[in-house]
Amino acid sequence: MERLILFDIDGTLTRTENGYLPFNEAIFQTFAIAGDIRTVVPDGNTDPLIVKDIFAKAKIQIEIGADRWQRFTANLRASYRQHVERGETTVRALPGAAELLKALLVNQAFSASVVTGNFEATAEVKLEAAGLALYLSRGAYASDSEHRPDLPGIAKRRWQQLARRLIEPERCVIVGDTPNDLAAARKNHMKCLLVGTGRYPVEELLYWQPDACLADLSDTKAALTTLANL
Ligand SMILES: [Mg+2]
Repeated sequence: MERLILFDIDGTLTRTENGYLPFNEAIFQTFAIAGDIRTVVPDGNTDPLIVKDIFAKAKIQIEIGADRWQRFTANLRASYRQHVERGETTVRALPGAAELLKALLVNQAFSASVVTGNFEATAEVKLEAAGLALYLSRGAYASDSEHRPDLPGIAKRRWQQLARRLIEPERCVIVGDTPNDLAAARKNHMKCLLVGTGRYPVEELLYWQPDACLADLSDTKAALTTLANL
């Protein structure tokens, strides 16, 4: 039976080095404040909440309206692209990520999309830089909602519109690297596979009792079997 696999990006499909450079630059360009993403734990969070966390941690009170978010998104996209082009920020696919996405693409039983705390603009830059953009249909992003539990439902609806058929939430699998990914899956009655390629080792992820857990995605066959049996 058909399954929709919804991949988180950071720590699950890709790893970014020096991602703080474009993020901090975009904060400065947009808000004229020297905020630093390295002062907070961004894993599993969404970009807008990360920005709010940074300001809260620095004890800066600021009201951010829709126009300012738009400017921040545009600055972040431009800055990310520049830093990646100059090689100052690197985004690479994690072991097995490309192979698994290719295998899912040619398997009629699976569809693959994205659920991420990145703005859509930054998700695009990251997936393109890592060579993974071609394998994933449009999913849900922090630009759709800053609350991660809202995102799986949005991704499912987008896929249904594209595929012109319905899919049960129980046939959807979130693949992520944090307890937040699992919580979002549970909230939406979806399955969850956690991978130990982010901040949390497998032993810690198991404590949260996901439906499945893998050290990484490097064994394509094992990952496919795991996904098919959820
Ligand atoms: Mg992640």
